[in-house]
Amino acid sequence: MAKKEVDDRFKKFGTVSFTAITKTNDFIDYLEKGKVMGTKCKDCGAVYFPPRSDCFKCLDSNMEWFEVSGAGKLLSFSELKYGPVGFENDLPYTIALVDYGDYKVFGRISKDIPYEELKVGMGLKAESNTLPNGQLNYVFTTP
Ligand SMILES: [Zn+2]
Repeated sequence: MAKKEVDDRFKKFGTVSFTAITKTNDFIDYLEKGKVMGTKCKDCGAVYFPPRSDCFKCLDSNMEWFEVSGAGKLLSFSELKYGPVGFENDLPYTIALVDYGDYKVFGRISKDIPYEELKVGMGLKAESNTLPNGQLNYVFTTP
């Protein structure tokens, strides 16, 4: 009997490993290709970020991928000086919620943007990023 292969691509995401097994592992393949992706329900059009493999509204899994492209609007942000275990070496960093209209994306702001220059309402785009330890994530940068 063939050994069952474990789909653990999410191990490559973030500073600390996420839950390794999920139905949205393609997210990682897209990040490796430089794309930040969410999912969209083919039945009702609901969009999800982080990507989900099931639609809350339809209770169905008829989903397709879409790219988080273009600029969203910075809704709120906060500089973290203390972080959870595993994030100590990244501190300080700024987390943000960016509004893309149909969905919102939560993530970090690139250290290329000085904290003093951040303003609610400014445009930001999500970009895939490789951390110094080789792990993948995404950051918000200026469009
Ligand atoms: Zn749906």
